[in-house]
Amino acid sequence: MRVDDEFGRRLLGGVNDLVERVCSSREVVTFMEVCGTHTMAVSYFGIRRGVDSRLRLLSGPGCPVCVTGSAEIDAAVAIARLKGVTVLTFGDMMRVPGSIGTLEKSRADGADVRVVYSALDCLRLAESDPRREFVFIGVGFETTAPTVAATVVQARKLRITNLSVLPMFKLIPPALRAVVKYREQLEKSRADVARLDGFLLPGHVSTIIGHEPYRFLAEDFGLPCVIAGFEASDVLQALLMLLAQLLAMEHGESAKVEVQYRRIVMPRGNRRARNLMRQVFEKTDSNWRGLGLIPNSGLGFRSEFRSFDARRRFDIAREKTGLVTRTSAVRLSEACRCGEVMLGIITPTACELFGRICAPESPVGPCMVSSEGACAAYFRYERWFGMTDRRN
Ligand code: SF4
Repeated sequence: MRVDDEFGRRLLGGVNDLVERVCSSREVVTFMEVCGTHTMAVSYFGIRRGVDSRLRLLSGPGCPVCVTGSAEIDAAVAIARLKGVTVLTFGDMMRVPGSIGTLEKSRADGADVRVVYSALDCLRLAESDPRREFVFIGVGFETTAPTVAATVVQARKLRITNLSVLPMFKLIPPALRAVVKYREQLEKSRADVARLDGFLLPGHVSTIIGHEPYRFLAEDFGLPCVIAGFEASDVLQALLMLLAQLLAMEHGESAKVEVQYRRIVMPRGNRRARNLMRQVFEKTDSNWRGLGLIPNSGLGFRSEFRSFDARRRFDIAREKTGLVTRTSAVRLSEACRCGEVMLGIITPTACELFGRICAPESPVGPCMVSSEGACAAYFRYERWFGMTDRRN
């Protein structure tokens, strides 16, 4: 379905009718999505352009590659530079800049860095060359962590000792709390930062964690939430549900977490996947690009599995490697505003580099590197349409 076919037009009409009603008592309605696939869907299907301009759709920190911190990329680059080590990673990570370069640059300089399509591929590679050390870059949200946990469990079962993981996983609910609190502070000091009115929650992550971990958004912050799928019709239905909640709240009802993506998301998520994740990993503080250090928002190895932790195996620590002070340092451009983009404070077009210096073929920041980054989505699908409104 596209927003310009019959069904799409009907849904869009319904959304715009509700925006009209909600906006009888306010100027704008602002929803945020926190999933790279939603970022792409909203841009690709033309949803932002199709809805009433009083409905603002922001992209939050939902692209795993974009939120990976500089220090984490530096650790991956430092490991890639070690002799006898092969670094295995998903393709999107290759061009993400840290403070001393990228994995792609390391490969050009002679490091053995390979792209894999599944964590389980790493088992085969490690088994086939027992004299080399293989390190998988564990990046992603609650969706990816269980498959990496399964790989680690399997590696232990098969007695594969030359495989380890550099864990950079991030957890979505703590980041949402941080986003809400941060924006609340900004609202007090900046007239151009609008209040958030609700969240379009990620379908994939929610297949694992269910809807319970988001309840604090409704109960503590009074924010309506809807877990949505990725077709145009899913996103539009979820917007209808969010707007209907806002109208109901005007009549005394409380905000709640609803599921639009019922064909996939179970209320309690996937218990088996969560157990696997808990067996191998435990929560740890994590640094998010743009958001800083967020307590309990990452995953590290439990003591029983620490032998698989690449940081420990290769003794990688920022202060020991002196990574920051090397003269060859390639710093992330100070003009890059990815942090503000990922908080929904500015739209990508408000960045001075957007489309002029920064483009998917020559990205300056991670939001343009990843195919699921907000800057890449705007560049591919929305830059022709005069998205000039820079306020959020
Ligand atoms: Fe960073 Fe490029 Fe996006 Fe600007 S357009 S915020 S430089 S990624």
